[in-house]
Amino acid sequence: MIVEPKVRGFICTTAHPAGCRENVRRQIEYVKGQPKTPGAKNVLVIGSSTGYGLSSRIAAAYSCGASTVGVMFERPANGKRTASSGWYNTAAFEEFAHADGLYAKTINGDAFSREIKEQAIGLIRRDLGQVDMVVYSLASPRRTVADGTTYSSVLKTTDSDYTNKTIDLNTRKISEVTVTPATQQEIDDTVKVMGGEDWKDWIAALGSAGVLAGGATTVAYSYIGPELTYPMYTNGSIGKAKEHLFATSQEIAREFPGVSAYISVNKGLVTQSSAAIPIVPLYISILYRVMKDMGLHEGCIEQMYRMLHDRLLAKDVPTDERGMIRLDDWEMRKDVQDAVSAAWDKISDENLEQLADVAGYWEDFYQMFGFDIPGVDYSADVNTEVSVPSIGE
Ligand code: NAD
Repeated sequence: MIVEPKVRGFICTTAHPAGCRENVRRQIEYVKGQPKTPGAKNVLVIGSSTGYGLSSRIAAAYSCGASTVGVMFERPANGKRTASSGWYNTAAFEEFAHADGLYAKTINGDAFSREIKEQAIGLIRRDLGQVDMVVYSLASPRRTVADGTTYSSVLKTTDSDYTNKTIDLNTRKISEVTVTPATQQEIDDTVKVMGGEDWKDWIAALGSAGVLAGGATTVAYSYIGPELTYPMYTNGSIGKAKEHLFATSQEIAREFPGVSAYISVNKGLVTQSSAAIPIVPLYISILYRVMKDMGLHEGCIEQMYRMLHDRLLAKDVPTDERGMIRLDDWEMRKDVQDAVSAAWDKISDENLEQLADVAGYWEDFYQMFGFDIPGVDYSADVNTEVSVPSIGE
């Protein structure tokens, strides 16, 4: 089948198997070219198939030589429908890892459920004994809990309307958007989905099953960003969930002796999750332009390699005064943020291409789904029915 991108809003409903494979291969090559990072042997990555989780898994496998168990929620191909990009990424990752002699198995299903936690515990017990690192990188719009209730997260402010510039990525036009405040119920539900409750449930389940090694480390991801996105992000409904995630890191450290729990504040990047947040894509497009011009730009893999090598597995884990790992250190540099603010104030339809890297945004967007990747022949017939070697084991 010849696979073409089909973009609907901020999602692409098709994915290219050869492009996703190339994307994963390039990330692996990047890590292979960096100094090794000893310190993690058996790593569980929850949310392992795209974005920061996929890159965490690649960095752990190829920099630490770790065995990895991934948990994801992805769709295999079905007739004319391609699989999701996370499915193809994982098929490719396992194929490369196995060829390189690395253990890699994946569980596909709802990580919030008890059943998937039990499957992961069973697999770890059988194959690895214990894990010494747990990466929690879920990004989900909803969560169903044990009693069957489904909670949905919202991307809203928490106090009043907030109006600012945004970009329509399709027409490449700047417009104004007003984001309305969430109700208390919506805030509570967002915390339920994207806060730390499920992270702690995972640690408790792994701990009581005896598959969490003494001295294990766990990390979950957060974002802060600049003041201009505060009403939308840090002080918004998602920010409340991230506050809860941070509080959970402290609870885990308190309640599970010997376990070190960290929040890593990562850089704002184009992923399937961030594309959905109002205002943020314009900020990211400007940030890309500024950071690329300054030679400071990083993608998920550069960030996650740095997270393991220079932070989580470094001696005396470097953190800020609250104890958070800061991989947004370059994004938040004063010279970077001053340049972003100056561009933000004067950006318009006329100077958009000059002040914002919209092309770079779209390039990342398409590449997430395996399109627009140099070296891939998109006119070739590809088999879309790709299997993930370990699924169902
Ligand atoms: P992403 O959408 O690329 O990845 C989400 C992952 O979660 C995928 O592997 C998906 O399969 C998995 N997943 C979703 N729901 C699931 C479920 N119910 N069961 C099992 N797996 C499920 O997202 P991302 O942008 O890499 O985000 C990961 C984390 O990083 C989030 O906590 C996010 O807030 C944080 N973060 C993102 C950015 C950014 O700019 N993208 C910046 C800083 C921090």
